[in-house]
Amino acid sequence: MSLPEHVPFFRPDITEEEVQAVVTALRSGWLTTGGVCAQFEKDFQEYLGDDSLHCIAVNSATAALHLSVEALGIGPGDEVLVPTWTFTSTAEVVRYMGATPVLVDIDPDTFFIDFADAERKITENTKAIIPVHFAGLPIPRGALNRFAADHSLHVIEDAAHCFPVMNEGGLVGRLFPEGDSDAVCFSFYATKTMTTGEGGMVVTRDNALAQRMKAMRLHGISRDVFDRYTAKGASWFYEVIAPGFKYNLTDTAAALGRVQLTRAKAMAERRGEVAKQYLEAFADLPVALPVQGDSEHGHAWHLFVIQILSEAHLGRDEFIERAAEAGISCSVHFIPLHLHPYYRDKYGYKAQDLPYAAANYQQAVSLPIFSAQTDADTQKVITVVRELLG
Ligand SMILES: *Cc1c(COP(=O)(O)O)cnc(C)c1O
Repeated sequence: MSLPEHVPFFRPDITEEEVQAVVTALRSGWLTTGGVCAQFEKDFQEYLGDDSLHCIAVNSATAALHLSVEALGIGPGDEVLVPTWTFTSTAEVVRYMGATPVLVDIDPDTFFIDFADAERKITENTKAIIPVHFAGLPIPRGALNRFAADHSLHVIEDAAHCFPVMNEGGLVGRLFPEGDSDAVCFSFYATKTMTTGEGGMVVTRDNALAQRMKAMRLHGISRDVFDRYTAKGASWFYEVIAPGFKYNLTDTAAALGRVQLTRAKAMAERRGEVAKQYLEAFADLPVALPVQGDSEHGHAWHLFVIQILSEAHLGRDEFIERAAEAGISCSVHFIPLHLHPYYRDKYGYKAQDLPYAAANYQQAVSLPIFSAQTDADTQKVITVVRELLG
């Protein structure tokens, strides 16, 4: 097998079918949120397998998270538990509402929010927790539900990495009627496990939350624009019930999403094969390998994060630099939030305040893993990583 010169960190997986679906949407005479978006929401609901779930398409996971926090009525004086090991979206939406994100350390093996540290940080003002299913490994549903119930917290799951994946009897997003999370937020950003270019989906079982989020995703208008122009008895009348946002998903994006959804399982299987090859190839290297899924908790393998241990003869930064010279683009997920100037300075965090995240940050590297990855790409990554660390 001849190996490629360069393996990018990510390459989109778009087939002729997606191209045709977008072209059809473009020719339909309706470009913004309309029938295709409604059908995408219905497809997603069917995929999750319960028609009493509300699936609300939006233009990013950040929008989904913001709408969830807003609909739960979180505001000034309230505190929300957020893992420091995440993208800034997870915490910034709490700031949008004037509430305080309280950063929590992680379990060093799974990178999940550490429930023991979270418990220590609960005060009478703590209203909610936003756990992140990091890399595509789901936080066990039962443990999360129990933690929330014990402390009377709302739960908004940041599932930006975690579609499609099983978690104790149902896919992430398949909220069960009793004692499950309030909302689950998915991302269809360009590099996520399925994409609409930019986009997201928020899932809830709660009717009141769904009504609020549907209005707030489109300016706080009580009926959506598409209904206004196309429903029988269409009328010019609408009412603004709150100063809402502009978070609707376009039909062109939804057309892409509908096809990606039909391919989501196959794309996940492909990433799973890449992960399996990496896990075998790197077993004897001085690295900590990512925790794998099991029959109860799958793995979406959005990211493949290794940690370069201190016995390796080169550090993380040098590894990334040398890998780039050898033609492999790596990345780091994530720079912990408490190390970023905004959160550090506003809340006075020191690196050692969240010691596991600070330590993992020195060692973590994300290797390329994507469904369009060829066997030659994978072989190239394996060869370079073994040369650098073997
Ligand atoms: C990508 C990502 C988001 C934001 O997704 P967008 O759709 O780009 O808004 C949120 N949380 C995590 C953990 C992410 O990786």
